[in-house]
Amino acid sequence: MNTIEQYIRDVQDFPKEGIQFKDITTLLQDPKGINDCLTNLLNLLEDKKIDKVVGMESRGFFFGTLLAQKLNAGFVPVRKPGKLPYKSISESYELEYGTDNLEIHIDSIKKGEKVLVHDDVLATGGTAEAVKKLVERLGGEIVQFNFIMQLDFLNGKEKLKGYNVQSVLNY
Ligand code: AMP
Repeated sequence: MNTIEQYIRDVQDFPKEGIQFKDITTLLQDPKGINDCLTNLLNLLEDKKIDKVVGMESRGFFFGTLLAQKLNAGFVPVRKPGKLPYKSISESYELEYGTDNLEIHIDSIKKGEKVLVHDDVLATGGTAEAVKKLVERLGGEIVQFNFIMQLDFLNGKEKLKGYNVQSVLNY
């Protein structure tokens, strides 16, 4: 068992019946958990020349900023609609019922900048695909999608075909 696995709490039927929620708050409570997880995430990256780490609201912010600090890169938040104060662009993505949007500031990534996209969990891949479109519309070059966990049975990787998709844990 990967040492990170022991820090993750499975919560049954959250946020609704049938979902097994992968809770990283138990990992964040423990300084060794934070440290080990960060080291594992950094080890997934062969090329550490990254200009911007992009993290998804909200659980992508925790390790996204830590990764940025370690990589001497900037951090860029992708947020739910109406949260970013400056001019933004938006992409919609599919939810189980209906659609939602994600936004990014127009000046957050410059053309040709090398980008690492980070989130806690890759599930269906809808979120990551929307982030991919946002980053590429701004001219960013995605070096890797890097997750703490991938839920393989949901096939999120399919939506990110042709990209370098890595995670510390696979379920
Ligand atoms: P998706 O767009 O389906 O890949 O979902 C990814 C987003 O939903 C990520 O931001 C995750 O934080 C969250 N997520 C989806 N499924 C789970 C799960 N089983 N446990 C924890 N977070 C999840």
